[in-house]
Amino acid sequence: MAVNPARGDSAPDAVVVGAGHNGLVAANLLADAGWDVVVCEATEHIGGATRSGSVTAPGYTSDLFSAFYPLAAASPILAALDLENHGLRWSHAPDVLAHVLPDGRCAVLSRDLDRTVESVSSFAEPDGAAFRTMVAQWQQIEPHVLQTLFRPFPPVRPAAALARSLGMAGAARLTRMALQPVRRFGEEWFEGDGARILFAGNAMHADISPDGAGSAVYGWLMTMLGQTHGFPVPVGGAGRLSDALTHRLIAGGGTVRTHAPVERVLLREGTAVGVRLKSGERIHARRAVLADVNAPELYGSLLSAVDLPPRFLQDMKNFQWDTPTLKIDWALAGPVPWQAQGPRRAGTVQLGVDVDGLTTYSAALAKREIPREPFILFGQMSTADASRSPEGTESAWAYTHLPIRDHLTEDDIDRHVTLVEQTIQRHAPGFTDLILARYVQSPTRLARENPNLRHGAINGGTAQLHQQLIFRPTVGLGGAATPIDRLFLAGSSAHPGGGVHGGPGSNAARAALGRAGWTGPLKRAVTSALLTRLYRSEQTRDTNPIPRIDRADLAPRGRADQPFESSARGRLNSTTALD
Ligand SMILES: Cc1cc2nc3c(=O)[nH]c(=O)nc-3n(C[C@H](O)[C@H](O)[C@H](O)COP(=O)(O)OP(=O)(O)OC[C@H]3O[C@@H](n4cnc5c(N)ncnc54)[C@H](O)[C@@H]3O)c2cc1C
Repeated sequence: MAVNPARGDSAPDAVVVGAGHNGLVAANLLADAGWDVVVCEATEHIGGATRSGSVTAPGYTSDLFSAFYPLAAASPILAALDLENHGLRWSHAPDVLAHVLPDGRCAVLSRDLDRTVESVSSFAEPDGAAFRTMVAQWQQIEPHVLQTLFRPFPPVRPAAALARSLGMAGAARLTRMALQPVRRFGEEWFEGDGARILFAGNAMHADISPDGAGSAVYGWLMTMLGQTHGFPVPVGGAGRLSDALTHRLIAGGGTVRTHAPVERVLLREGTAVGVRLKSGERIHARRAVLADVNAPELYGSLLSAVDLPPRFLQDMKNFQWDTPTLKIDWALAGPVPWQAQGPRRAGTVQLGVDVDGLTTYSAALAKREIPREPFILFGQMSTADASRSPEGTESAWAYTHLPIRDHLTEDDIDRHVTLVEQTIQRHAPGFTDLILARYVQSPTRLARENPNLRHGAINGGTAQLHQQLIFRPTVGLGGAATPIDRLFLAGSSAHPGGGVHGGPGSNAARAALGRAGWTGPLKRAVTSALLTRLYRSEQTRDTNPIPRIDRADLAPRGRADQPFESSARGRLNSTTALD
């Protein structure tokens, strides 16, 4: 499908590879600046991991990948696009989130602060006041935190504004918190299991163990966003968000082509000048190519190894994926019969484990074992948005993680689906009797349905500290710039990473516009000089004992769409293929 075929045949200003939300955000910002933009999407669908469809039973809508959007609701980037004017409407469940502990107790997060406070106080009386204090502090700094997070790296101005509003001591404490494990953070702030599990469970939306440095900041961010913005969902399904982005782009003159897999970024004298599709068609780009694909795909498949600095390729071999995902959708004949009151009104329900259980779950994944007690992120989509299924029923969504392994058998997947359902059944007797239909997406299937989700990884690479900021996707400058002039990384492998917020897409668009502006040559000269220093061959000074690798080993072999990790299978333990 070519949306907006009215554009002429002349070369566009920019080609965007991939119509995930980040690609669409980037294309919108370029179109706003007057650029002629073509988005090339490999599959027949627009939206990437922000899509919905009817896959369980007639009348039921399922979110095929992501489902809850606190980051989108808070994102200044998406707010500026005014997507409500392009058909997007948000809907909230009565409560944001409930975490059901293995012993049946339940902590509730609600946009109504009194309700959250009542819930966490029921575990330990002083925790209500501590939670209120934290929310008050958050409200003072929220705009600065969001700007710091979502603006291009380094976020000098927003970070300075954040530091000013906190003062030196406050900034030091915030930095300490950002580096903490969420278990320790919970112990310092709260006495009871309720508040602690809300933060620890929310931290698990990233792939960091509750005992891992940096997990506290995720738990804090997601809990505070949930408290103040909720975990809203688009009315009608996740795909309505992508539809709104597409509608806005087309209205601004942009073009989206589906069934248009890009197999090569075309270069001339080290500069990106367009793309070649798998069909052989070439699309030239006058000013920039933006890639909303994961970093191993861009550097290992869409580019040739000979076009990249050897030292950069060597660093890229340490790129670490986040853990594979098993996703399940159910059409349920009625609402989930939870034993506890807490989860009945919540859009998102977290269950399966407590804080110790999260540690055991994370350790199993780290050891590449299938967790015996899964941590389940469960969505009651009709509770959040009544349009998702017939009245009196529930469209349910869930995921849990599996280890990175060479091979997961169908039996492994089936057994784990049963384990997930038994875990829910334990807290909601009668759940399994309500199942009219289910749709299971194994990691392999997720990757087949969205080629960007290598291994079924949801965040474009681990969110652990060693792959954040200037280390995302590998040692670099932390921005969208790549070693290739006029080529920008626009997907979640780039800072600020996974989640639906538009950060990487926006950063890439800004970088492309900056490169094309009158200071562009100077900017590129500086970037290029810095990157040259970073990726200079360091044969004599290299103290890091990474074995040198043969450039030929890094060149994609066989089919042009073969992924980076396949060509390196068996050598790169963090990128072992699953299927
Ligand atoms: C199961 C699951 C649950 C999640 N839950 C949530 C959630 O509840 N809330 C949240 O905020 N985030 C969630 N996430 C994470 C979030 O969805 C992603 O981080 C985000 O959507 C990534 O957006 P993107 O635009 O960078 O990439 P994608 O959305 O993956 O888009 C990339 C696009 O590029 C296309 N593509 C790939 N290669 C090529 C090529 N060679 N040529 C052309 N096109 C190509 C792909 O087909 C795809 O359409 C979830 C993700 C998954 C998978």
